[in-house]
Amino acid sequence: MAPKKASSSASTPAQTEKPHGYEFGGPIGALFISFGLPIACYAFAFLCNDVSGCPAPSLLSPTKLFTPPILSSQAGWQHALDVLKVEVGWPGFSGLLSLEAMVGTLAWYGLSLLLYVLLPAKEVEGTELRSGGKLMYRMNSFSSALVILGICAAGTWALGPDFQVWTFINRNYLQLMTANLLISFALATYVYVRSFEVKPGNKELRELAAGGHSGNMLYDWFIGRELNPRVTIPLLNTEVDIKAFMELRPGLLGWIILDLAFMAHQYKSYGYITDSILIVTVFQALYVMDALYNEPAILTTIDLTNDGFGLMLAFGDLVWVPFIYSLQARYLSIHPVILGPLYVTIVLGLQGLGYYIFRQSNSQKNAFRTNPNDPSVAHLKYIETASGSRLLTSGWWGTARHINYLGDWLMGWSYCLPTLAAGYKIVPSVLTPGTRLVTTEGMAGAAIPITYFYMLYFAVLLIHREMRDEEKCSRKYGKDWERYCQIVRWRIIPGIY
Ligand code: NDP
Repeated sequence: MAPKKASSSASTPAQTEKPHGYEFGGPIGALFISFGLPIACYAFAFLCNDVSGCPAPSLLSPTKLFTPPILSSQAGWQHALDVLKVEVGWPGFSGLLSLEAMVGTLAWYGLSLLLYVLLPAKEVEGTELRSGGKLMYRMNSFSSALVILGICAAGTWALGPDFQVWTFINRNYLQLMTANLLISFALATYVYVRSFEVKPGNKELRELAAGGHSGNMLYDWFIGRELNPRVTIPLLNTEVDIKAFMELRPGLLGWIILDLAFMAHQYKSYGYITDSILIVTVFQALYVMDALYNEPAILTTIDLTNDGFGLMLAFGDLVWVPFIYSLQARYLSIHPVILGPLYVTIVLGLQGLGYYIFRQSNSQKNAFRTNPNDPSVAHLKYIETASGSRLLTSGWWGTARHINYLGDWLMGWSYCLPTLAAGYKIVPSVLTPGTRLVTTEGMAGAAIPITYFYMLYFAVLLIHREMRDEEKCSRKYGKDWERYCQIVRWRIIPGIY
């Protein structure tokens, strides 16, 4: 069952490769990202809540948080904090984690692993490693996802929104986030410690990531020291590539499972499903299923070929993607927005355009790199580089050097727009005492920084990623890259950037 190593000509030990400079602001940046982003995840979960509103209403008039006479005194701060704690439903530090959520999370990883081992899979060869040789990857993430979604569909068919998976997630949202956070930190530490076993010329083709062995412990732990850490699961006797597994399985599909749980929550609360939450969930599911269906394409991504596996990817894959990318569905599960046909058509058009650019450009590069004589790409122009690789200069890749990012970003807009001028508060109902009402009164637009955060963050991620890739390619191709940039002038948006 262990994915075999395709070939080995271990010639250049990874350790002898010159490490390149710091990225992400070096050790200081690593410190801020490693501990700041988890805090941001909790902030989003608390500030947009089903207790008082999105955002918690007091945040809109901070001065009212303080009682005037004790403004800026210690008692004033304490009072403000107490008000906020009530408004966000603060469960206390011990309430951030529960045994139930930890067991549920481990069961989720266990199920992913079991399907990885048991379902039929394609063995696919990875790209050539710096030390020579290629690793093999076991690919069945699409069929695994179908099995999991099939189970969820059957459960929902039988029990509706009371299907235990949905009620479990909605009951333990915060605690599930903490469980995944702890797992990502533990995993990053495990792979960091194990990376010191990597010896030059080893038969397993283990190597260090070029930018991951600076010698600074915190930075290397964050950025990822080993390029392709793998582990053999004892009882299952199967080797798992930790990075490829974490990139595509528990977190990515977890994002869609969270969306579905939020849809169930909306149905349970209101008795209907709105067009807004439906299209957000369908778009995001399409994005994820597309990535899983095209699983071999992951092998040529920067994450697989270039980056080590450390906290950055562990946290990104297991916490940031599922819990931050599903914020819009969570918002809509509490505040049901009805878009109507015109608005739905606009958002569908945007999604269609984004998906078309994203899929066509990624597939064109893949087809060209896999078989340049393929009739779909044989007519395209390219330049031959000294390293032997060819760079496309016409077709999608002739319009901008990362035209695929533009498609991805446009799709991101269609996830956020369905929340409209986001913002709601929860107040006691006057008509039906004992019940609560969700209203937009005085809140319209106040939650835009939360539900449209994805757009801003994704723009920063893609621009930063483009700059990292530019550096990587310029290091790799030198003068050939300069020549390529003169032909393909734009970075992401033709004519603009
Ligand atoms: P790309 O798929 O854009 O790959 C970049 C690499 O392609 C370069 O390093 C170079 O590799 C090769 N290349 C560059 N220009 C050319 C050319 N003209 N012709 C042929 N090959 C070329 O990078 P990513 O891994 O960043 O992105 C993959 C997809 O994943 C994107 O669509 C992106 O939007 C998406 N993504 C989504 C994220 C999310 O959170 N939703 C996060 C990150 C990415 P080589 O060294 O082989 O020449």
